[in-house]
Amino acid sequence: TKYVYDFAEGSKDMKDLLGGKGANLAEMTNLGLPVPPGFTITTEACQAFLKSGHEPEELADEVSEHLAALERVMGKTLGQSDDPLLVSVRSGAKFSMPGMMETVLNIGLNDQSVRGLAKQAANERFAFDSYRRLIQMFGKTVLGIDGEHFDDALEDAKRARGSESDLDLDADDLRKLVETFKEVVVERAGRAFPQDPREQMDLAVRAVFESWNTERAVIYRRQERIPAELGTAVNVCSMVFGNLDMESGTGVAFTRDPASGAQGIYGDYLQNAQGEDVVAGIRNTVPLADLEELDKSSYDELLQIMQTLEQHYQDLCDIEFTIERGKLWMLQTRVGKRTAAAAFRIAVQLVDQGLIDMDEAVARVTGAQLAQLMFPRFDADARKSAIGKGMNASPGAAVGKVVFDSYTAVKWSRSGEDVILVRRETNPDDLNGMIAARGILTSRGGKTSHAAVVARGMGKTCVCGAESLDVDTKRRVIRTRKGDEIKEGDVISIDGTSGEVFLGEVPVVDSPVVRYFEDGTVDEGDDLVVAVDRVMRHADGARRMSVRANADTADDAARARRFGAQGIGLCRTEHMFLGDRRTLVERLILADTDDEREKQLGELLPLQREDFVGILEAMDGLPVTIRLLDPPLHEFLPDITELSVRVAVAEARGEPRENDLRMLQAVHKLHEQNPMLGLRGVRLGVVIPGLFEMQSRAILEAAAQRIQAGGVPRVEIMVPLVANVQEFETVKQAIIQVAREVRTETGVHLEFLVGTMIELPRAAMTADQIAEAAEFFSFGTNDLTQTTWGFSRDDVEAAFFSAYLEKGIFGVSPFESLDVEGVGELVRIATEKGRSRRPGLKLGVCGEHGGDPDSVHFFDRVGLDYVSCSPFRVPVARLEAGRGDR
Ligand code: PEP
Ligand code: MG
Repeated sequence: TKYVYDFAEGSKDMKDLLGGKGANLAEMTNLGLPVPPGFTITTEACQAFLKSGHEPEELADEVSEHLAALERVMGKTLGQSDDPLLVSVRSGAKFSMPGMMETVLNIGLNDQSVRGLAKQAANERFAFDSYRRLIQMFGKTVLGIDGEHFDDALEDAKRARGSESDLDLDADDLRKLVETFKEVVVERAGRAFPQDPREQMDLAVRAVFESWNTERAVIYRRQERIPAELGTAVNVCSMVFGNLDMESGTGVAFTRDPASGAQGIYGDYLQNAQGEDVVAGIRNTVPLADLEELDKSSYDELLQIMQTLEQHYQDLCDIEFTIERGKLWMLQTRVGKRTAAAAFRIAVQLVDQGLIDMDEAVARVTGAQLAQLMFPRFDADARKSAIGKGMNASPGAAVGKVVFDSYTAVKWSRSGEDVILVRRETNPDDLNGMIAARGILTSRGGKTSHAAVVARGMGKTCVCGAESLDVDTKRRVIRTRKGDEIKEGDVISIDGTSGEVFLGEVPVVDSPVVRYFEDGTVDEGDDLVVAVDRVMRHADGARRMSVRANADTADDAARARRFGAQGIGLCRTEHMFLGDRRTLVERLILADTDDEREKQLGELLPLQREDFVGILEAMDGLPVTIRLLDPPLHEFLPDITELSVRVAVAEARGEPRENDLRMLQAVHKLHEQNPMLGLRGVRLGVVIPGLFEMQSRAILEAAAQRIQAGGVPRVEIMVPLVANVQEFETVKQAIIQVAREVRTETGVHLEFLVGTMIELPRAAMTADQIAEAAEFFSFGTNDLTQTTWGFSRDDVEAAFFSAYLEKGIFGVSPFESLDVEGVGELVRIATEKGRSRRPGLKLGVCGEHGGDPDSVHFFDRVGLDYVSCSPFRVPVARLEAGRGDR
């Protein structure tokens, strides 16, 4: 095996072997761009190390060879005492990953070579600054010393000099700082800072290997489903110096604005600085455009290179560069991250520039990004200046009163207040508060912190790691950097999409993208809406599956249709049993004679019929799947405890109430330990005479009425929770009988389908038998997930999902994104078995997963005809279904 590649030996397509950074350094090298020479140690070397606990035998020799070659090119040896070659060691996995070791710069400096460097550069200050940086980075990342110890020493040095800026430290100060840092190393790591340059390098390489398995990295990988065996590559690159003098510096650049997508010069530059200085914010950077005045020739060259990279990668690139005494060097590039809005704008811009086609443009945006654009957002005009900014952990816009603990969050929200739970960081004890709150704000922790992970899992707005805010839960105040105090009960607004935190209530407005979906008109002046429209139209043309909506009212149906739904995949009839109709339902349940039951059913019939007429009208010409009653009956009855108390109080007063007593008996009779596994769905239809007949009659009479009015109703009657074909047959025969009657009574010829939900493992496994009788299947993946995992869908969130999410057992709840390996396998089996018996069997899904971007691709792959989801997710599903299987 070859473990080491010179930069010139690789290419951008070798990310598996060279990692993202290494592959792109190789690509730039071969494009002839100014990349400092170096080499990459492969991910395979890392894998071998992780497996055996030591470097593969050949590695040391291979590294020596490549190092010698590098030394020849550079005309000096690593750490050479009179003129040292220095290198950086940087990790670079296939996917960028927080929690791993990043970078050690200036390897090769020691007590001797620092003097050589000083002489060569004619700059003693620079040499000692580089040396103290090496000890600091090496101490932190290789020897595992808490960075605070170095930071404190640096602060002390600055204070002694009476300055805020590290630039004011002179050579003497830095020489002393080097000594202090070396003492910190001895004290904290129990060993001296290694003076041997090769040892420095080897230890740094090993530290990169080992950082693959830090706890944070492991959890992040589990959550993001990044295979644990990939390993990381290590890049060894000759140093160029941005901290030589004011003619030197370092910066980051984007070929387009990653926030808006606009073309232009974006980035930051910092003179006389190295590495992390730019992002660490220790001094104020200047906008990249200012570089033109500071160093025109480097600036022009950089612009030229940015153009080359964009043309070459055909996408937005981000870049790290360094200027050493007026000479420009490229340190890194990659296809850059961007906001959702920028993703849409850039995709169509690239089409217009002839760089990509529309298929590629559709592939470059995601349903998740579209969903982000559809969240209501804070009114940009009304936006006050932010009091703090953290990480955009979970999108959305939330406004509420500040509370500092879970108990208060629950208590205040019960009394109708909107609250924002503010914590330094959250832990599982905060769960109830997180559920009760509109949003969550923490001052510590990154995108994989408890708060971020759990909030994303719950779809709740969250800003985390807002470090400029000091959260004091004891005194119950937030202190801002300016010194203002925000007390419990004060209103704040948090923007989970930008990470900003505002004092007071910022008005929330609908997104322009939602407005576009609502009325279908494109505001030509809004380039985001124009981009979304173009992408959506192309996706609609490209997709195989249709997209329907889950809608229970005529209004929802109408909106869904505006959003592009091609029918209703699930109309849940249970809401039609609530509200004013509840008393009718109660009487139906209490009825103890057939006559009485029929009378109550007769009263419900016209009400149901009216509902269906409205829905069929809104969806005229499109298929409408109406599901017969599913939830257990006790859900329509009064709460058992309340009722018991009422009965007891009445009895104590000596005025017992006959009705309450009867009701209580009924409630007791219907009470179940596991209602989700109880008398619901098709079982109700079998047990309660006339119930499903009444519903079917209402549906078919509504259809007849629509036909008489000149409409085109396309009715599909769906039976829930079927486990075996006989259950289904029983109900189907009853429906057919009703249809005959309705036909005779109305004289209207009715066409309709009768099908079933597949939401129990047994139904999936016997789908061939069921398909003999059922004319369509709709996968109820909510119940199918519940029954396959044995997780109660109503309880797990609060019970233990947060622990599962945090430990990375789930990347995301299986109720949100389909568990392809388990539940998905049942879907696949049922599809195959169903179609084997009834070719062309119509198949859809109506569980929540129908609108989940990842799940949509799975359903496409298995061959379902449609997905059905809530109206708001219809555009997301349309887009994902049009992106093909990626
Ligand atoms: C399902 O179980 O996936 C489904 C759509 O039905 P419900 O959510 O109403 O149980
Ligand atoms: Mg269900």
